[in-house]
Amino acid sequence: MNFETIKQEEQQYLMHTYGRFNAALVSGKGAIAKDAAGKEYVDFTSGIGGNSLGYCDEGWVKAVTAQASTLQHISNLYYSPLQTEVAKKLCELTGMSKVFLCNSGAEANECAIKIARKYSFDQYGNGRQKIVTLVNSFHGRTVTTLAATGQDVFHNYFFPFTEGFDYAAANDIDDMKAKLTDDVCAVFIELIQGEGGVMPLEASYVRELQQLCQEKDILFMVDEVQTGISRTGEFYCYQGYGVQPDVVTSAKGLGGGLPIGACLCTEKLSEVMSSGTHGTTFGGNPIACAAAKEVLSRVAEPEFLAEVKAKGEYIREELKKMPNVRDIRGRGMMIGIVTEKDNAKAIAAKCVEQGLLILTAKDLLRLLPPLTITYEEIDRGLAILKNIMEETV
Ligand SMILES: *Cc1c(COP(=O)(O)O)cnc(C)c1O
Repeated sequence: MNFETIKQEEQQYLMHTYGRFNAALVSGKGAIAKDAAGKEYVDFTSGIGGNSLGYCDEGWVKAVTAQASTLQHISNLYYSPLQTEVAKKLCELTGMSKVFLCNSGAEANECAIKIARKYSFDQYGNGRQKIVTLVNSFHGRTVTTLAATGQDVFHNYFFPFTEGFDYAAANDIDDMKAKLTDDVCAVFIELIQGEGGVMPLEASYVRELQQLCQEKDILFMVDEVQTGISRTGEFYCYQGYGVQPDVVTSAKGLGGGLPIGACLCTEKLSEVMSSGTHGTTFGGNPIACAAAKEVLSRVAEPEFLAEVKAKGEYIREELKKMPNVRDIRGRGMMIGIVTEKDNAKAIAAKCVEQGLLILTAKDLLRLLPPLTITYEEIDRGLAILKNIMEETV
């Protein structure tokens, strides 16, 4: 099938919810994807952070195919040793106490929101259920996680949205103090706002915020759906901020390209979600768990984390030499590039034409390369980007 036919049939049969780039990808290896015509693309997106080990990593393929030919699904009516292994590993890597497994970032965040409200209900009764998130945040596409998302553009069409959210300006502790009224049960933040334009929070702000939360028994919850699973050079980004959240949510890179999400909580909250209060048919699915187990056995090793940091640094240094680069933000291999000419979208489209997959966020170029990308692949991708940056100056 040629590209035009693929595009036309997509238009015919799929809801038009996505603005897609002009590429139809059919295979991949490492950080290189291929389209139907055999054209290669260097991938600086990892499927928006999903393919933490790149395309068709050998160990990952082995784990997933072995599990697919052993047991693909059982539901949560039965015990699953694989699920327990994944949860145990997540707890060991974080010091958290318990895990709920689900299928996506939005679902992990729904679980966090339910924990916050039920904890508060159990402790203080009704009337203390507000959750404060940050302006410019992104927490997902369900009706409730859209409400949690602190951007007006997302609060449209689907009324009524879930009540009980308020939004504080990021890095503004006074605004946060004003928002932490007696009806607040939790604060829920991204440490680096991803979709909002790769905007990191200041460490001093985050520490003070956690302190404030502790004083008022307000849960301090961190959305690590994008920043987690070693993306920033720490296993979870909070580990580099010197704070200990009450709740952490995770997804994207966790399954290395299969859908799995997780909501982690501390000892204090470990009994909040009691029998019958939450569930999902596919959550903790054996194949997704086999994938996650492989990812977790690799990405949290100190040498691996050091590599992520080193590659991130290398990319940053190379980007600094390019024209049209005004500012570079982010940590590890979560990188945002502010362009001089404010032309990120046009550049991203050109990159695809010339064989580089690259993301945008707001008016930035954004890179989320597979964590296993090689320096050779990085150089190949950066050369394409450099050409296009030069052309557009
Ligand atoms: C991607 C993302 C989500 C939503 O995850 P889905 O798997 O698409 O539901 C939530 N929060 C953050 C910070 C994200 O980057």
